[in-house]
Amino acid sequence: MNRRGLLIILSSPSGAGKSTLAGRLRDWDDTLQFSVSSTTRPPRAGEVDGTDYNFVDVDDFQRQVADGAMLEHARVFENYYGSPKGPVETAINAGRDVLFDIDWQGAQQISTSSLSNHVLSFFLLPPSITELHRRLVSRGQDAPEVIERRMQKSWDEISHWDSYDYVLVNDDLAVTEEKLKTIITAERLRASQQPDLMDHVRTLQQEFEDR
Ligand code: ADP
Ligand code: 5GP
Repeated sequence: MNRRGLLIILSSPSGAGKSTLAGRLRDWDDTLQFSVSSTTRPPRAGEVDGTDYNFVDVDDFQRQVADGAMLEHARVFENYYGSPKGPVETAINAGRDVLFDIDWQGAQQISTSSLSNHVLSFFLLPPSITELHRRLVSRGQDAPEVIERRMQKSWDEISHWDSYDYVLVNDDLAVTEEKLKTIITAERLRASQQPDLMDHVRTLQQEFEDR
């Protein structure tokens, strides 16, 4: 049976594990489509334009917003970030799930949009603030002052934890990964994700009446 795609949102304070878990979910199911955000932030070492982000300048970004081409957008850590709408609509209409690594502002905008029935949102909490700091340092991608700014902002992000469908403490990575997979597997079976159910039930009814 066909199904509708889910909009799967992962949010957390920076360093809690969103990108790591998004990567594991994509290895688990290669039909999961990652929503490549557009951002005005400069690329980090190793980041690939068009794969990790679409790296754009502020004028370009604002033009896309003005054209209505963003499903959501927000300013995070002094930069603009947004999720292009076109690839998301194409994927979910074709029954493919889309995975978003976005902040609470973007999650709120998508969760109150016309696609809200198809949203599955997760908030990842770190086991402790000390561990969050350790992870940002061990990632080795940001300068100390950038890490400090991200730590300062972490509480702002954490304070939105209870607007999400599921909240997971990302302590043991393998355990969190399993929980995510289990929940996604179950949520794909929501009645609203299975548009062909009505036809199937009608067929059952016909068969029942013809006995
Ligand atoms: P985010 O995308 O939320 O900013 P990352 O996925 O980049 O976070 O994770 C930050 C760092 O923490 C990375 O070095 C990653 O390998 C590590 N990490 C993620 N999850 C865990 C975990 N459960 N236990 C230990 N380290 C983790
Ligand atoms: P980073 O600069 O570390 O890649 O991302 C910083 C923050 O911006 C993270 O919380 C990330 O989830 C968020 N983010 C990334 N892309 C988007 C997006 O398209 N929209 C929104 N609202 N937030 C995003």
